[in-house]
Amino acid sequence: MSQDNFDAKNIYWGIDIGGTAVKMGTVDENGTILLSYEASVAFDHYDTPILQTVLKESEKFLKDNKIDPMDLRGIGISATGQIDVPKGIVAGSGGNIRNWEGSDLKEAFTQKYRLPVTVVNDANCVALGEKWIGSAKNAKDVIVLTIGTGLGGGIIVNDQILLGRAGFGGELGHFSIHMQGEPCTCKNRGCFEQYASMTALVRSVGKYCEAAAPGCLKDRPVNGRTIFEAVAGGDAAITRIVDTWIQDISAGIVSLVHIFNPELVIIGGGVSTQEELFIAKLREKVLEAVMPNFKQGLTLRAATLGNNAGMIGAVYYLIQALS
Ligand SMILES: [Zn+2]
Repeated sequence: MSQDNFDAKNIYWGIDIGGTAVKMGTVDENGTILLSYEASVAFDHYDTPILQTVLKESEKFLKDNKIDPMDLRGIGISATGQIDVPKGIVAGSGGNIRNWEGSDLKEAFTQKYRLPVTVVNDANCVALGEKWIGSAKNAKDVIVLTIGTGLGGGIIVNDQILLGRAGFGGELGHFSIHMQGEPCTCKNRGCFEQYASMTALVRSVGKYCEAAAPGCLKDRPVNGRTIFEAVAGGDAAITRIVDTWIQDISAGIVSLVHIFNPELVIIGGGVSTQEELFIAKLREKVLEAVMPNFKQGLTLRAATLGNNAGMIGAVYYLIQALS
């Protein structure tokens, strides 16, 4: 890409900081990624603070691509953890990431590049990305759930991401669906994340396989792929465990639908590519269980942006903030 393109269009810098990697790129006003780059942030178990790594990699990205930051309209940052949006600070790490809490992302990037900077939690950015150019495009009221190692979420109410007082809103992993259930990292019990994440499914199947005779999952490692291969192959016991998992996910979504009355529920994460064995079953359970008036005009489907959703959503938030 030549420098001329920068002059001709509005180009934004998107940075998506996760617990294992940082992804960054230039994004145009239509949400198209022009250039992108990825680097590890966990290479030395966070001895080097993530912010320091991200600043170093940012310099490399600009230099390698001969980008002058003055040609960019601003920096939209998506970041893991509890993000204080007005201050642009990591207020909580929400996990075991050392040297991350307290990172002043907004200050560091504003000082260094003299550009407008916004910082929003990564799961909320995923929701915004899907809303801008993904499977929630043109929808006004949307719930986005990302099912992975943990459970991320974002809620869009009347075209706006629900941030709450400081930006912590939409933390969908931590409302209880089983009051006497599994203890959670947040110190409560029975949180949605403990039942609806991929980690939860792997734990349940792992327990079953430990107790079962050899041959469970053909003695392969327990993960999302082997589990869904077993379901596709007609393994009745594994299918029952997956059905219970889908039931738990449905229970949480039904509560959210009753609270927010969305038109759309979007499911992201690797497992969302399983249309027949997962999305279709979940859709059926949710539509079956919500009250009739909430079912009217309600759709549940898979996310479409994959791993780029956070970077794209961060830029969308920035564009809205600048306008
Ligand atoms: Zn919790």
